[in-house]
Amino acid sequence: MTPTPIPFNKPYMTGRELWYIAQAHANGHLSGDGMFTKKCHAWLEAHTGARKALLTHSCTGALEMAAILAGIQPGDEVIMPSYTFVSTANAFVLRGGIPVFVDIRPDTLNIDETRIEAAITPRTKVIVPVHYAGVACEMDTIMDIARRHKLLVIEDAAQGIMSTYKGRPLGSIGHMAAYSFHETKNIISGEGGALLINDESLAERAEIIREKGTNRSLFFRGQVDKYTWVDIGSSYLPGEVIAAFLWAQMEEATAITNMRLSIWQQYHEALFEVEAEGLLRRPIVPEDCQHNAHMYYVLLDSIETRTALIACLKGEGINSVFHYVPLHSSPGGREYGRMFGELKNTEEFSDRLLRLPLWIGVENEVDSICEIIRKFLAVQANSAAFGTALK
Ligand SMILES: *Cc1c(COP(=O)(O)O)cnc(C)c1O
Repeated sequence: MTPTPIPFNKPYMTGRELWYIAQAHANGHLSGDGMFTKKCHAWLEAHTGARKALLTHSCTGALEMAAILAGIQPGDEVIMPSYTFVSTANAFVLRGGIPVFVDIRPDTLNIDETRIEAAITPRTKVIVPVHYAGVACEMDTIMDIARRHKLLVIEDAAQGIMSTYKGRPLGSIGHMAAYSFHETKNIISGEGGALLINDESLAERAEIIREKGTNRSLFFRGQVDKYTWVDIGSSYLPGEVIAAFLWAQMEEATAITNMRLSIWQQYHEALFEVEAEGLLRRPIVPEDCQHNAHMYYVLLDSIETRTALIACLKGEGINSVFHYVPLHSSPGGREYGRMFGELKNTEEFSDRLLRLPLWIGVENEVDSICEIIRKFLAVQANSAAFGTALK
C-alpha cells in the first residue's frame, strides 16, 4: 500500500477566514480599503512600527510600487542577490533599472554585505536585501553603506514577517519593504502582499501610486475637494474579500509562527546527528536574528546527491523541492541584469539546497522524513567509501 503523499506545502487556515469574508459580504463594501483592509494596515503598522503600511495584491506589486517610489530611471542600477525570486529583479527592470547581482554569504545564503560597496557605481540607486528563509540580512552594515552613498534600501521581506534583526522586525529597517501573503508563505491570503513605508517623505506618494495615480485617499480623508489624476500609478490594492481572509491570519500570526518554529526545531534536532556525521549541512541562524520558520532546508554535497534524494523521498510519497535558478544564469537575468564579479556561492548553494515540507500538520511526519534522509545519505556515503576502497 502506498502511503498518503506528503505535500511540500499545505496552506493553514485559522478557521475564521470564511466568517470574516461573510462580514465583508454583509458590509457590502467589496472593493479595496474597507474595514478589513484598515484592520490589516493598523496591525502591520503596530507590529512593525512602519510609518505607513499598504496592502497590495502581491509582494510583486509592492516591489513594483517601491521601484516607482525610488524614482528608478532607465539605466539606474539596483544591487541585489541573484539567489532570489524573479520579482525582486523584475520590479526594477519594468522601470528600466539594471539589476546588479552580488554573491551570497555561505552561512545564511543572504546577500554578502561585504561585497556590496565595491558594486556601487554612479548609477546605483537602491540596495535590495532579500531576507532568505526569514533570516535577516546584515542590516546595520547595509544601512550604513546606503547612508554613506545616499542610496535607498528596499527590503524584500516576502519571507520575513514576524522575524527580527537585533530585536527590530524585518520590514521596519529599510526605507521601504515588501511582504508577501502568497499561500506558500507563513501568513497568507492566497495572493497578497504589503508595502511598508518607513521613510515619511514617501508615504503620500505611495497612496497615490497604489490608487491609479489619483489622490483618492486624500479625498476620502477630506484633505482635497475632489480627486483627480496627479501622478503615474496603477491598481495595486486587493479587494475586501482578500483583506478579510488576511485579517483572520494576522490575528493568529503569533500562534502560527510558534507552531512553525516548533516544526522547524523538530527538523533541526532530528538532523543534528546526520550533520555531525558530515552527511549534510543544516541552516545557520546568526545570534542577532530571530527567524520565523518560513522554511527548513538542508545543503547536500552535490547536485547529484540532491537529485537522487528528491527521487528517493518521492518514492516514499514525500514532496521536497529546490530553488532558485540563480537569476544571473536565467535568460531574463542575462538580458536585463549583470553580475558583479563571480557568484560562486550562489552557483554552489543553488545546486545543493533542498527544501523539506514545512506546514502546520506535518509534525507527525518529520521524524520519519528525517530517518529516510539519514538512511539514504548513510548508504550513499558507504557505497562511495567502498568505491574509493576498490580503486
Ligand atoms: C514569494 C516571494 C516574492 C513574491 O511574492 P508574491 O506575493 O508571490 O508576489 C518575492 N520575493 C521573494 C524573496 C519571495 O519569496
